[in-house]
Amino acid sequence: MVNLKINNIPVSVPEGSSILDAARLAHVEIPTLCYLKNVACVGSCRMCLVEATGARGLVAACVYPVSEGMEVQTNTPKCRKSRKVTLELLLSKHKKKCLSCERNNNCELQRLSVEYGADEDRFEGELQNTPLDDSNPCVVRDNDKCINCMRCVAACKKQHVGAIGPIGRGFHAHVGSAGGVQLKDSSCVGCGQCVVACPVGALTVKSNIPEVQAALEDPAKHVVFFTAPSVRATLGEAFGLPVGTNVEGKMVAAIRRLGKCSVFNMDITADLTIMEEATELLNRIQTGGVLPMFTSCCPGWVRFVEQTHPEMIPNLSTCKSPQEMFGGLLKTYYCEKNNIDPKDLFVVSVIPCSAKKFECKRPEMNGEVDVALTTRELARMIKTAGIKFTELPDEAFDDPFATCSGGGTIFGATGGVMEAALRVAAKTLDGKFEVVDFPEVRGTNPIKEATYKVAGKTIRVAVASGLENAETVIQSLQSGEKKYDFVEIMACPGGCVNGGGQPTLPDSVRNNVELRDERAKALYASDKQNKLRLSSETPVIDCLYKEYFGAPNSHKAHEVLHTSYKPDPRV
Ligand code: SF4
Ligand code: SF4
Ligand code: SF4
Repeated sequence: MVNLKINNIPVSVPEGSSILDAARLAHVEIPTLCYLKNVACVGSCRMCLVEATGARGLVAACVYPVSEGMEVQTNTPKCRKSRKVTLELLLSKHKKKCLSCERNNNCELQRLSVEYGADEDRFEGELQNTPLDDSNPCVVRDNDKCINCMRCVAACKKQHVGAIGPIGRGFHAHVGSAGGVQLKDSSCVGCGQCVVACPVGALTVKSNIPEVQAALEDPAKHVVFFTAPSVRATLGEAFGLPVGTNVEGKMVAAIRRLGKCSVFNMDITADLTIMEEATELLNRIQTGGVLPMFTSCCPGWVRFVEQTHPEMIPNLSTCKSPQEMFGGLLKTYYCEKNNIDPKDLFVVSVIPCSAKKFECKRPEMNGEVDVALTTRELARMIKTAGIKFTELPDEAFDDPFATCSGGGTIFGATGGVMEAALRVAAKTLDGKFEVVDFPEVRGTNPIKEATYKVAGKTIRVAVASGLENAETVIQSLQSGEKKYDFVEIMACPGGCVNGGGQPTLPDSVRNNVELRDERAKALYASDKQNKLRLSSETPVIDCLYKEYFGAPNSHKAHEVLHTSYKPDPRV
């Protein structure tokens, strides 16, 4: 351990720690812009400059290592002056449109400029006047608001995609895609991790709010919302509630107050996905089909396979994602049962994800989901409608798609799909199987592995989240180093709870709180409280198979609930 003082407060930290790490232990906040825990640490923005004994001049706290007996001062006139000038230089070439900016009141540049009393007009600068890139169905880039912190580049590189990088020099330096192509022509898979990483309003997820508002105001439309499992665990953050608060009841009540609509629970089609996927897995194991089988509920991951590893497309489960299964179910079964013309049904899925916006536009999905709305967009609609979210009563989802199993709910966290599928596979193979928890596949470790023996059969599984870890799994399979039967992959590190459409929290929270763990806990708590733990025990699932699909993987189920994939033509 190394002993030092931060603002005269003694702390001990492991050797190799940075001054920023030590400051956290001393409960001292040092401002940062380019640093983001678990994503980027390059020391380029110069906001975290501090004075430290033994150092010449100011040093960047995020990269400068601690040493024995070091004394650090973080709030001297020299530090404050340097940070203020840095901010004023950034503002001199910044499109200052705070009043209409999506990140207004939630922007690191704005917050620090106010805190340090930066004068936005002190230096006369010039805008690059780069055209807005809104070519991509998921992500919009406004480089005139970019502060070149490179957090998005680090996030995309960590995703093993590398669709964006630094381009040009000096004043013309900016972030873009190789060859200067638009984002739609790059290798972007739409995961939105760059948007989550961006400290300002330079990157946003494309908004579909106007289409939803128009449908709600159209008397000819029958509007249906359904919400993904992880949205209930994060929406409260947009209204100041603590991270990890489950707001399911208030979320349902709020959506109902947006206009005439039905509000369903997407956990039901998570349960349906499990029924179809577990059956597919058992069929593949019993008939010598392609193994390992990969989960297919994450559109960013599916796109990654189509683009980067098309040779592994046969490994993907043919199941649609829960979003698209719900779309299919509503435009067939639900419309038939309620005598609604599918053209009059407007389907809105509320999701934690930016890639789902791309997924619902895929031609294979036949437009069954009209709009995918992120958690952030839903929060904005609730605020615009003047709904006092925290004062709402708890309300239940609408029948018939209200009650789900805990297995459907844990879909929102990495390892949840695997655990839910294992519960059903184990029950199917060995009716006497009692244990419903699989702790080996829980948690936010990048790659988790386990082997289970069920009814004399050995099932080898792996779970990975984050495309960098997905790539490691693929490499280990292709080299023959590893053998698995079933692999769950989520593109976003930690799974959907950390998706590109989730509420954006300030760096002061993101650098200090394990968001993914806290949000996931809310889902596992809900699973534990649920009397139904197995997807196969959900009454509406039973009813759907009896009334409509016949059996999992039946011809009808394949028509509505399954799909196919193709290599990206640009590969
Ligand atoms: S990015 Fe921040 S500083 Fe820039 S316009 Fe938006 S809110 Fe204002
Ligand atoms: S959305 Fe994902 S893949 Fe696309 S640029 Fe951002 S981080 Fe990269
Ligand atoms: S787009 Fe955002 S994250 Fe990327 S370099 Fe610019 S400011 Fe940083």
